[in-house]
Amino acid sequence: MKNLDGLEELIRTIPDYPKPGIMFRDITTLLADPIGLKKAIKGMAKPFEDGKVDAVAGIEARGFILGGAIADRLECGFIPIRKKGKLPWKTIGQEYTLEYGVDVIEIHEDAVEPGSRVLIVDDLIATGGTAEAAVKLIRRSGGNVVGATFIVDLPDLGGMQRLDALGIPRHALIA
Ligand code: 5GP
Repeated sequence: MKNLDGLEELIRTIPDYPKPGIMFRDITTLLADPIGLKKAIKGMAKPFEDGKVDAVAGIEARGFILGGAIADRLECGFIPIRKKGKLPWKTIGQEYTLEYGVDVIEIHEDAVEPGSRVLIVDDLIATGGTAEAAVKLIRRSGGNVVGATFIVDLPDLGGMQRLDALGIPRHALIA
């Protein structure tokens, strides 16, 4: 892994979670570290500090923690993208394939201002299935996805290439 100012050391690797054979990158240890958290937020937001982001869309659940802080930093609003059945108002949904299973994410149908510039935030990109579904939701809502930002990229799983194919500028702090 490429180190970014000691951030990598703050991430704990848990073998065989949530299934045998999966090496889960646990970022709760990074979130708990005041310097690590600040560096992560700053680094994730940096390429998008040009005033061109109207809203941050964070993916449940770790994307909420990071996305809220990044939205505050970029002085824009926050839009939650949640697992199926969690949002109280009318939603649109998108099915996607996870590293381990199939799921649906949803967004409120009126959450994205048509024509607005949206930055997607999540903690980690693996296969890119989740991020691609988020891009589709925002585009179906009439928004322009101006980028996607993560703490960790697992390059062997090809997620960034999927974002490249969709024409999305993408950024991760650790590969
Ligand atoms: P993908 O859809 O890119 O295959 O998987 C990424 C999604 O699953 C993200 O929402 C991410 O939070 C979660 N995820 C998958 N593997 C890991 C992991 O090892 N660590 C963490 N923290 N999240 C993971």
